Amino acid sequence: MEYIDNSFEAVIGLEVHTQLLTHTKMFCSCPNVFGKEPNSLVCPVCLALPGSLPVINLNAVELAVKAAIAINLNINKKSLFARKNYFYPDLPKGYQISQFQDPVSSNGYLMIDIGGGMEKKIRINRLHIEEDAGKLIHAGLNSFVDLNRAGTPLAEIVSEPDLSSPAEAAAYLKDLRDILVYLEISDGNMEEGSFRCDANISVRKKGDTNLGTRTEVKNVNSFKFVEKALEYEINRQIELILGGGKVVQETLLFNSKTGKTESMRGKEEAHDYRYFEEPDLPPLILTDGFIQKIKDSIGELPKAKRQRYINDFALSEYDAEVLTQYKDVANDFDELVKINNGTIDIKKIANWIINEWMLELKKRWATDNPEHVQERAALHEENSIPIEKIINEDLINFKMNEIIKDRKYFFDMIMQVENGKINRNGGRLVLHQLVENAKNRKVQSVEKIINDLNLAQVSDDKGIEDIIRQVLEENQKELEDLIGGKDKLFGFFVGEAMKKTKGKANPKKVNEILNKHIENYKSGI
Ligand code: ADP
Ligand code: MG
Ligand code: ZN
Repeated sequence: MEYIDNSFEAVIGLEVHTQLLTHTKMFCSCPNVFGKEPNSLVCPVCLALPGSLPVINLNAVELAVKAAIAINLNINKKSLFARKNYFYPDLPKGYQISQFQDPVSSNGYLMIDIGGGMEKKIRINRLHIEEDAGKLIHAGLNSFVDLNRAGTPLAEIVSEPDLSSPAEAAAYLKDLRDILVYLEISDGNMEEGSFRCDANISVRKKGDTNLGTRTEVKNVNSFKFVEKALEYEINRQIELILGGGKVVQETLLFNSKTGKTESMRGKEEAHDYRYFEEPDLPPLILTDGFIQKIKDSIGELPKAKRQRYINDFALSEYDAEVLTQYKDVANDFDELVKINNGTIDIKKIANWIINEWMLELKKRWATDNPEHVQERAALHEENSIPIEKIINEDLINFKMNEIIKDRKYFFDMIMQVENGKINRNGGRLVLHQLVENAKNRKVQSVEKIINDLNLAQVSDDKGIEDIIRQVLEENQKELEDLIGGKDKLFGFFVGEAMKKTKGKANPKKVNEILNKHIENYKSGI
């Protein structure tokens, strides 16, 4: 990383907030969903009406503990909830229920990739559970309060100041997000704020062991902006020090339009929040059995899986990445590899999943949810995120065994392509029919679908021979040109032959036989 003076180095620590994918809020039974009519998802508890009492959401605890185990934190069998007091219009209680002393987990680490095949260990101070605040919406001279988000569950993950560049900070965020999305703890959506980060940053002369005074940049909502905001802030601090000034500890906001950080308020200290133990909630006590059960449910994490796919199956980095983005997809791939049991090249199975299966799912999702596609497109317009990516993030159900009833059908389809019974396009049509069948509760073998849709390839030499003869006869002019050296016309004849068979001819055979004929013509036979 190049700064304006490279005798300085950066020290960065991140506080990540992630919403937990529970059905209901942290301390009440209101739905935990995004994008509903303002103040439609509220009750006495999340509105802080007098006399209402919070109840801990077990599922939120499970997800937080799962996240904590995945990033190597120690789980504390006894933890406490605490009130963090401050006034803000989006916080009806006047305090946020959080954890302060005795969080649910502490002392972990994450290994991040720092390029060139190197890894770095980033220590994690703690992960604790808390509730989110509501939202303020500013419109002209008016401000509105929407409390749908008030009381939704969050995990806050606090790193030690072990990150030494904006790129490392981005790598840490990405690895963390990958794990949380994969384990279905978070939807990882930075633009909607369900995965967000505050970045703490200071600079010091290289070789110094003392930490410099830090500033905190609040709520940066994309990977790109994290890097930009940090880079700007590092240079700002270096410049300030070089000019004889001192960094003031304060809270900043990143302005994505100017690319600069702006002062928001002076830094508050823990004592400003007058933390005290939440009197309305008992301590959170976790049993060994509860923790063990969650440990057992985690299985192989995406990074390990990715490496295994690359090592064992010689998949490319990109393919391995796509396959391990979602747990269900990785699981389907693993199961298909088992069913395959060495019959065909695993790369082919990977390709069918990455290209055709994912595409089929996207199409299906888009047809089933037209309003949602529009809504999301509008929401993301200013960020110019391709619609493809949005849909990708929205797809909730990837489970092959639900979508086509049995992943064995998927394997049968690939086998029929491999055996030459149908071509690739036929395979696509079979896949589509499998999805339709499952929707309509219709059970049909892949062979039956091939027969019904008349997809079998014309592979017999005689059949293809006849078609090619016909095509050559019907296009005398082009044939002469081809013999005369216009090689491009070869493709034209292949195309004509495919057309005649409605795309069902085995293209390899067509090429072979056509080639033989042309060679014969050329040598005057
Ligand atoms: P607070 O809760 O007041 O924000 P913490 O001590 O919990 O303060 O630290 C918050 C984050 O700031 C942590 O991620 C930590 O690693 C980071 N941090 C602390 N000191 C520094 C520093 N001098 N430079 C950069 N980051 C720091
Ligand atoms: Mg902080
Ligand atoms: Zn509620």
